[in-house]
Amino acid sequence: MVNCGLCILSDTVKQDIFQPNLVDTFGRKIDYIRLSITDRCDFRCVYCMSENMTFLPRDEVLSLEECARLIKVFVSLGVSKVRITGGEPLVRKNAIQLFEEIGQLQGLRELVLTTNGSQLEHHALALKQAGVRRINISLDSLVAARFRQITRVGELDKVLRGIAAAKQAGFENIKLNALLMRGINDDEALPLAAFAIENGFDISFIEEMPLGAVSHLRQSSYVSNEETLKLLRARYDLISSTETTGGPAQYWRIPNIKTILNSNTVLNSNTKIGFISPNSHNFCEACNRVRISCKGELFLCLGHENKVDLRPLLRAYPHDDKPLKQAIICSLQTKPKGHDFDLKRAAPAVIRFMSHTGG
Ligand code: SAM
Ligand code: SF4
Repeated sequence: MVNCGLCILSDTVKQDIFQPNLVDTFGRKIDYIRLSITDRCDFRCVYCMSENMTFLPRDEVLSLEECARLIKVFVSLGVSKVRITGGEPLVRKNAIQLFEEIGQLQGLRELVLTTNGSQLEHHALALKQAGVRRINISLDSLVAARFRQITRVGELDKVLRGIAAAKQAGFENIKLNALLMRGINDDEALPLAAFAIENGFDISFIEEMPLGAVSHLRQSSYVSNEETLKLLRARYDLISSTETTGGPAQYWRIPNIKTILNSNTVLNSNTKIGFISPNSHNFCEACNRVRISCKGELFLCLGHENKVDLRPLLRAYPHDDKPLKQAIICSLQTKPKGHDFDLKRAAPAVIRFMSHTGG
């Protein structure tokens, strides 16, 4: 076996653990990967990127063939859920080909996507046909000027057309991701939830994390999910749910009764409201995932610098997956117990932006 240089396990032990199951030193089974296929994006969200970003040179970014190979290797090791993310995955040329190649992979139970929605009006149907069953679309505001303020360059109308195209394409589930910022869109929890209910979507509220150096103080813009939940409970009868979609969100259901919306429409609501609360509720105990950046860095935790560079192995052994598999298995020995974000610190928890690691 090739020594990955990461762990001190003997070759015999490595042979024993060389089985299709990824388990870390805390007994957590890893069956979910998030793969970023580009660090580029057509938006510059203020919480995610700085205004002037330098993106990676193209030869440092994995080819789509390398992305597909990595996914196949992870699936052979027991991963059953893959999220394609970025940057904005749909700005990557020929991204749909990747979805088509892996959509039918044996052993892959779920292929999902996180997108800002800007390109969905062109690609929603092709994604559905390629085997994507659920998508997450980020939407932080329903007010065009604010949407522009948050994304710096984004056009709300285009995203709403993308969302409509996704609805039309008939995905099993569409979930909106919303990040509220104090003084910018913290009054939009109710309108965004109502928009989700009206359209039959789920919605998750994500607390802002201190990843990358941005131009505002995270502590000043932070809105806790406890505050958002309180607001929503004043409007809807929410019932705590133990449901999970395999991610970190804690869900609440609006009971399946007639819900009267602002527009006075009455409909049966199936909407789940989720809260992803990396600051106020650490969810690391049940962590089941790792992330891979678009240059092939395997990050064991969003909030730590630990990583293993898989790109050299991909390129040095183009026809042999064993070294890659071994490096992945060994890397789990270094998966940290959890993140520990402290918004009071001026410096970010990690210097890389969320768009680099992949959200
Ligand atoms: N471009 C796509 C999008 O926006 O959906 C996919 C990548 S983006 C990095 C994935 C998710 O990360 C988005 O929902 C975004 O709101 C979230 N995100 C970005 N920066 C964040 C931060 N600092 N804290 C919390 N969530 C963040
Ligand atoms: Fe782009 Fe998504 Fe980051 Fe916004 S959150 S800048 S859309 S990668």
